[in-house]
Amino acid sequence: MRVVRETALSLTVELQELAVTMLLDGETVMPPDCLRGPEGTGLADLAPQDLAGGKLPLPVRAFLVRGQAGCLLIDTGAGRAWHKGLGQLGAALAEAGSGPQEVDLVALTHTHIDHLSGLVDDDGGLAFPNAERVFVATEELMAFRAEPRMIPVLPRLMPLEQGDGPLPGVVAVNAPGHSPGHMAFLVEGRLLIWGDLVHHPLQFRRPEVTWTFDEDPQEARTTRAGLFDRVLAEGWLVAGAHLPHPGIGRLERQGAAFAFHPVTR
Ligand SMILES: [Zn+2]
Repeated sequence: MRVVRETALSLTVELQELAVTMLLDGETVMPPDCLRGPEGTGLADLAPQDLAGGKLPLPVRAFLVRGQAGCLLIDTGAGRAWHKGLGQLGAALAEAGSGPQEVDLVALTHTHIDHLSGLVDDDGGLAFPNAERVFVATEELMAFRAEPRMIPVLPRLMPLEQGDGPLPGVVAVNAPGHSPGHMAFLVEGRLLIWGDLVHHPLQFRRPEVTWTFDEDPQEARTTRAGLFDRVLAEGWLVAGAHLPHPGIGRLERQGAAFAFHPVTR
């Protein structure tokens, strides 16, 4: 794997047949008590490096997978539906030398607001008009259909199950807990795009810590432990929606803790 292009809002790595581009939708901050200890309580012992201006930094990222067979967008950012400073996916795509017309397929890691909202543009139309299929985990189809802004997308909705390949070389991997149908995507058997498995770097040092929006915190914790082990056993690279810059890197075990090492040029 090598980094072939880097801009303020994007970073592209080449695998064998496929290229993966991180697209930064923007950055926001969250209250410190979004991180929850094992008993579900907030954490009293956050270190200065965990905070920015007393809050938790939260980047929001999406990933574009490009190859001969087409162009798959994994997650779509927050659009204008959530915090100010998000919704820059279009600018990130342009910086990466692509554009909304180029996206043939969309797959969501899950149906939370910062992952699905970019499917629809500011005028309520399809943000990716050539994306004929939008893959959503079977467990979350109902949640997706219940979102009024997603009505224009419904004719393109496709159920997604573990093992499905939305694009040749990309396989869906169950990663439930943060949401019931939360999915990771393994690209060319070597880069795991793991959605919201980790929301803050503290969860590498203390993987038992959960996030306030984990729908089943215990299951999220079990899934994180299992996938961390699998990533290390298989030697996979990792990418995530809320990982520190640039959102792609390598996981390392450090005793009972873990560390994230970002890719560099
Ligand atoms: Zn998220």
